[in-house]
Amino acid sequence: MANPVILCDAMLGGLARWLRAAGYEAQFIYGIDDRTLIQQAQKKDAIILSSDGKLFERNIIKDGSVRALFIPRDMTKHEQLAFVLKKLNLPVLPIPRCMACGGELIEIPKDQLKGLIPPKAYAAFDRFWRCGRCGKVFWQGTHWQKISKVLSTLQI
Ligand SMILES: [Zn+2]
Repeated sequence: MANPVILCDAMLGGLARWLRAAGYEAQFIYGIDDRTLIQQAQKKDAIILSSDGKLFERNIIKDGSVRALFIPRDMTKHEQLAFVLKKLNLPVLPIPRCMACGGELIEIPKDQLKGLIPPKAYAAFDRFWRCGRCGKVFWQGTHWQKISKVLSTLQI
């Protein structure tokens, strides 16, 4: 399966951010209801992740017309991430997606960013990426390193 779009239900915002860090286009809409979630999944040919048992009683999910994976509620976000990647047989991708919106990150030359990012980050790092969707700029700072560390310790 080539890099599927993943739709997270209203309870799984934290998981969506971690899936983006693992390189996947995970979407999360706060307060979305099951019916809209299913419609979106059909439109985008996406996989639904949900901790809502009721969703899985719907025929459209039961008969496999819309793909969905139940996420146990008693897991930490890291455990949820490991669970999803394993169940869906997805590798951790080398390039993360935007943690804020799930958009694709595009590497941009450092000199184009002078004055646009904190001077400390500019001085400390050489590689920078901008989200093609929301415009947020990322660099391989401590947050990124923390994410890589977590992802590399996941036994998957
Ligand atoms: Zn973004």
